[in-house]
Amino acid sequence: MKKEKIMTLVIDKMAITVVKKQVKNLNLSVHAPDGSVRLSAPHNINNDEIHTFITSKLTWIHKQQEKIKKRVTNIPTTSLAFEIGEYHYVAGERHYFKTIQGFEGKPRVEINRHREIVMFVDPWKDRAVREKLMKEFYRDYLKREIPGLVAKWEPKMGVKVTEWGVKQMKTRWGSCNIQAKRIWLNLELAKKSADCLEYIVVHEMNHLLERKHSSRFYQLMDAFLPHWRERKEKLSEQISGKN
Ligand SMILES: [Zn+2]
Repeated sequence: MKKEKIMTLVIDKMAITVVKKQVKNLNLSVHAPDGSVRLSAPHNINNDEIHTFITSKLTWIHKQQEKIKKRVTNIPTTSLAFEIGEYHYVAGERHYFKTIQGFEGKPRVEINRHREIVMFVDPWKDRAVREKLMKEFYRDYLKREIPGLVAKWEPKMGVKVTEWGVKQMKTRWGSCNIQAKRIWLNLELAKKSADCLEYIVVHEMNHLLERKHSSRFYQLMDAFLPHWRERKEKLSEQISGKN
């Protein structure tokens, strides 16, 4: 296998990073926060061909750069690139996000002493790799938090949770299988504050006492967690979903 070759070409006053590697097609991308342009290309393509290709894409490049400039901070995950300069939420807190350039060890994510999210990953890996890493980080966070919440509420509510799990859900914050006494929690909850997470855990556990969203269900909620409505409000502030 041929080695990667990295070079910089200046086209239309822009410095374009060109990475020649074992790929079949040209792949052009524009990156936050500075709108830098990167092209991965097969080894056998020459500079004239690259020049022609980039020139034909100038309108698209400028449009992407404009988009990056306008980017607001509280954007849904689907439009995040997991790149330096973004902000991501953990436990209701907004954190500056960065990747460690040129990292070749085992990929990982941590929060440093400046409260920044630092992703140790080869920066040439694609977005899907970075998103997956971030999801693993969120999953680990929830797996540390949930046992304590379940243990706190089991005796208070007089119920027993046999099993719990975390998964990505599109339309709900959680779910409860009453027969199996199993609760599922949405991975997205990792972005929410601890009291929001607790509210969902209590809500799902409450289904072990009352299957439906009946008036009894809400009476019980009022008794266990008098301020649950405020927490519910807070939960819907950033991303939509129901429980
Ligand atoms: Zn419910």
